[in-house]
Amino acid sequence: MKCSRDENFSKGELQRFGNIELSPSAGILNYGQGLFEGLKAYKRHDGNILLFRPEENALRMKMGAERICMPSPSVEQFVEAVKATVLANERWIPPPGKGSLYIRPLLMGSGAVLGVAPAPEYTFLIYVSPVGNNFKEGMAPINLVIETEMHRATPGGTGGVKTIGNYAAVLKAQSAAKAKGYSDVLYLDSVNKRYLEEVSSCNVFIVKGNLITTPAIEGTILPGITRKSIIDVAVSQGFQVEERHVSVDELLGADEVFCTGTAVVVSPVGSITRMGKRVTYGSDGVGRVSQQLYSALTSLQMGLSEDKMGWIVELK
Ligand code: PMP
Repeated sequence: MKCSRDENFSKGELQRFGNIELSPSAGILNYGQGLFEGLKAYKRHDGNILLFRPEENALRMKMGAERICMPSPSVEQFVEAVKATVLANERWIPPPGKGSLYIRPLLMGSGAVLGVAPAPEYTFLIYVSPVGNNFKEGMAPINLVIETEMHRATPGGTGGVKTIGNYAAVLKAQSAAKAKGYSDVLYLDSVNKRYLEEVSSCNVFIVKGNLITTPAIEGTILPGITRKSIIDVAVSQGFQVEERHVSVDELLGADEVFCTGTAVVVSPVGSITRMGKRVTYGSDGVGRVSQQLYSALTSLQMGLSEDKMGWIVELK
């Protein structure tokens, strides 16, 4: 049964960033009826502004909206709203090579509702913030810890969509990991407790020789747009790529490990700790494959290489 109602979003308007008014009984505040997206705009040397596959974010939001019974903007409405917001904030986009404009679309049940039910009204908004490059000088590896008690998602739940509640679920494990000096948490599947899922806000890949493997999307892992793009880039560079279950043993025996996401782009993993035991990768944790894929993707996103895949949307 299709749960979400038909799209009926009126044309929006640009407003100064500021607080918004919500009923205390808004669906988002009480029942977590909220979804968000994240993408970046880069300024190119010729002054043009580039978006990376924004229609993929629109489609992912649509999929999430259906899962939590919300209507969603059409792909065209979503992309147009992103473009208008970015163009209105052009002065905040860092110069080429100095960072990007992070774009945060948010869809919420803004109408009042008392008993558990979908909200009667919805709001779609977008805000932006300049962000620096993930790596200031060279690539720095991240250090992950495998979480054995807590899970971010379970089969049949909402782990495969970008609903706000998924992020509440990771806060405790992530805070504990950070307090111990780790960069983030790597989650395992909640059924077998031995297959990799993902990190709090990025997907994970392992490299062994010419083979790159990443957990398959089966409802508990967010289908990352960077993940999908890196798979295509890796295949185009001659790597063999497999999407399937990846066991902890395979992870610990890998040549390289890296994570992908809009914020982290491609981040090499320097070490993984499991139940107090630490495994390190390479001499400095920055593998050749991670480096190669990072360069390929960032040069595409920044407009420094030819867009053979047709992934770039130019705003001017
Ligand atoms: N997994 C989770 C849980 C995330 O929050 C993100 C960030 N959106 C990702 C993976 C990576 O997705 P993307 O490449 O689309 O940013």
